Parts: sequence; structure tokens; C-alpha cells
Amino acid sequence: MKKCYLLSILLLIIISLLLFFSRKKIKKVFFPEKKIYISKLVSHEDKKLIRLLNKALADEWLAYYQYWIGSKVVKGKLREETVHELIEHANDEKKHADMLVPHILKLGGIPILEFRYIRKISNCDYIAPPSDGDLKLILMQNIEAERCAIKVYKDLLNVLDDQYPKLKKDLIFILKEEEEHELDLLKILKKINY
Ligand code: FE
Ligand code: FE
Ligand code: MG
Repeated sequence: MKKCYLLSILLLIIISLLLFFSRKKIKKVFFPEKKIYISKLVSHEDKKLIRLLNKALADEWLAYYQYWIGSKVVKGKLREETVHELIEHANDEKKHADMLVPHILKLGGIPILEFRYIRKISNCDYIAPPSDGDLKLILMQNIEAERCAIKVYKDLLNVLDDQYPKLKKDLIFILKEEEEHELDLLKILKKINY
């Protein structure tokens, strides 16, 4: 009887010791810590950069729509060739928007969420295609928009320091494509004028 009593005391001590040393684990399992996420501290310089990137993002969305809707209504000589180019450019503008958003998020910013602010903050605004689908006018409007975009990216690259090499690389890539867009549209315009 006494042996049994001693054994249970020993068992109790072992269990207590086990519990004592694994209390952190037990606490973790039964009382998990509440995770609190706080937003990243954003410096004044980065806030300015986020704002500029959001303005460029607004331009890309408006450019996307301008090209896309233009490709639907355009009429005239060289229509087929123009539609092909407009759709290709629309897809590029959407791709540029896709490229900008991760940088805004990485900097601790929020990409523009409200549609009604897109035109408000954009640099280049939106030029509605003519309702009669005049091909020459649509080309000229988009050339104008591309020239604006080229200026936006050149200005952005001028204020960007070497702190963000991936962003710099992406902005240079986008700028190159905007310059190509302008040249492609000018080529078609030249063909019409001849
Ligand atoms: Fe673009
Ligand atoms: Fe473009
Ligand atoms: Mg092209």
C-alpha cells in the first residue's frame, strides 16, 4: 500500500515537472497570441513616390480604356491595322498597371481604389474618342496621350534615386514601351497622310 502511495507521488512529480517545462508550448496551443498587424512606417520621401506611382497607375488605366474603346469604334482607311495596334497597346497599358501596383504595395502604399479618383489624380487625363470613330483623330489623340506618358515616366525616373533598382528597371521598361507606342501610331498616321 505504501509502495503504491510513493509511486503515485512520484508520478505526480514527473507530471508536474513535464507540465512546468512545457508550459510555453501549452500556452501557445490553448491561448494563442493575437496577431496584430500594424502598417509599415512610411517615410516622407516614400509617400511622395507612392503618390507619383499612383498617378502613373491612374494614367495607365485611362490609357487602357482609351485604346480599348478606341479599337471598338474606329472607322476608316487602315482600320484593320489600326485596331490590331490599338488592342496591342491597350494590353501593354494594362501590363504597365500590373507592374506598378506591386511597387506601390512594397513601399507601404495603397494602390488607388476609388474609380472616381482615377481621372482626378491622373497626369494625362482621358481623351474620349470621337463618336464617328474618325481613325486619324483617334491616332492623334493616342499620340498625344503617349507623349504625356513619356513625360510622366521621364519625370519619375528623374526624381527616383538608386534606392529602388527594381522599380527603376521597371520604369525604364515602361518608358521604352511608351516610346514604341508613339512611333507605331506615327507610322500609321504617316501612311494615311500619303
Ligand atoms: Fe503605359
Ligand atoms: Fe503607351
Ligand atoms: Mg505597337
